[in-house]
Amino acid sequence: MYKILFLMSDTGGGHRSAAEAISEALYRKYGRETFDIQLVDVYRKMRYPMNIQPEMYPEMVNKTPFLWGLGYYFANLPFIAPIVRRLLYAMNRGRLQQMYEDNPADIIVSVHSVITPPSMYAYLDKKMTIPFLVVVTDLVSTPRFWYEKRAHHTYLPTQRALQRGIKLGLQSHNMSMTGLPVHPRFTDSYQDKQTIRHEHGWSDDLPVVMLVFGGDGMGQLVKTATAINEKRLKCQLVIIAGKNEERRAILEAMDWHQPTHIYGFITDMHIKMRGADILVTKAGPATITEATIAGLPMILSGKIPGQEDGNVWHVVDNQAGVYASHPKQVANVLEKWLADESIWQKYAENSRKIAQPDAVFQIAEGIWEHLHLPAKSGI
Ligand code: UDP
Repeated sequence: MYKILFLMSDTGGGHRSAAEAISEALYRKYGRETFDIQLVDVYRKMRYPMNIQPEMYPEMVNKTPFLWGLGYYFANLPFIAPIVRRLLYAMNRGRLQQMYEDNPADIIVSVHSVITPPSMYAYLDKKMTIPFLVVVTDLVSTPRFWYEKRAHHTYLPTQRALQRGIKLGLQSHNMSMTGLPVHPRFTDSYQDKQTIRHEHGWSDDLPVVMLVFGGDGMGQLVKTATAINEKRLKCQLVIIAGKNEERRAILEAMDWHQPTHIYGFITDMHIKMRGADILVTKAGPATITEATIAGLPMILSGKIPGQEDGNVWHVVDNQAGVYASHPKQVANVLEKWLADESIWQKYAENSRKIAQPDAVFQIAEGIWEHLHLPAKSGI
C-alpha cells in the first residue's frame, strides 16, 4: 500500500477539490486498496495567525478585497517572496518537520501555493528523499510560491503557467502541462438534463442560471443575485451559497421574482452543473474548469484581486464567457444572453473546447510513475 500525503488548505474550496480529484483518479486507475491517502491542512499545523487562514481568507476577501489584493501583490514581488518563504519556515520549522513525522508517506503532493516553499524547506532539513510533487491549481496568474525548483515534478494547468515556470528557473523536463485536475465524476455518465431538473424540482421550461461563488460563497454573491432578481428575467436561479450560512440565510429571506432554488454547500456540483444552462461565478479556477467539462457558458462576476486575474483572461481569451465586474453589469449581460439563446450557446461550445477532463488521470499517472522511480537524493 502506498502512502500519499497531500499538502493543502481549506482556504476556499479549490485545493481540497484538487486533492480529492487526484485521489479518486488514483483509486480508479490503480485500485482503492492500493493507497492510503492523507490530506493535511498545512496552515492548521502552523503558528497563529497562519493557523486561522481557512477562516481569515474568506473574511478578508469579502471585507477588504483591496487590502487582500495589495498583500497578494507585495508578497509576490521578486525581492519580497523569498523573505515571506523564509519567514514562514522560520516561524514553523519544528511544526512542519513534525507534520512529516506524524504523516509518514511514500510521496508528497502539494496542491497549494504559499505552503509549498516552507513545506519544501522542512523536507530538505529532514533530508527526506521521497518524491515531492506540485500540482498548480491557479490557471494563469500563478504566484511565484508555486514554482519550487527542488520539487521532483510540477504539473501545470495552462501553457502560460508553464512558461512562467521556465522564466522562474524550473527545468522544462521537471514540468508537464496537464490541465487543472477535476474530479472524474464530472465526466461520468448520469441522467440527462431533463431528469436532473425533475429530480431537483427545477422547471423544464425556463433556462437554469446557476450562481456559484467558490466554496465559501464569497465576493458579490448577494449583490449579484439581487441585481439579477430586479431584472425579472425569464429564467430560474440556482444559487449555491457554499459554506457561508450567513449569506444563505440572507438569500433565503429575499423576495424572488423568478423561480429560485437556494442551497448551502453541495456535494453534487457535477450533477447540478449538468442541469444548468448558464453559470454566473466568481473567477475560481476549480469552478471554471469544472464548468468547461459541463460545457457551461460563464459570466464571471468578480474575481479575487491578483490571484484570480489570470482565470478571467483564460475564460475571456477563449471566448468561453465574459467578465462583468459589477453586479448590474452581470444582470445586463444575462438579460442579453437570455434574449438570444445563440449567444450563450456559442460561449457554451467554446467552453467545452477548452475542457481537459484527462488532466486528473495524467497527474495520477505521474504520481504512479514517481512512486516507482528509484529514490533521488539532493534535489
Ligand atoms: N464547491 C462545492 N460545493 C459548493 C461550492 C463549491 O463542492 O457548495 C466546490 C466547487 O465545485 C469547486 C470548489 O468548491 O471545486 C471551489 O473552488 P474554486 O477554485 O472555484 O474557488 P475557491 O473556493 O477555491 O475560491
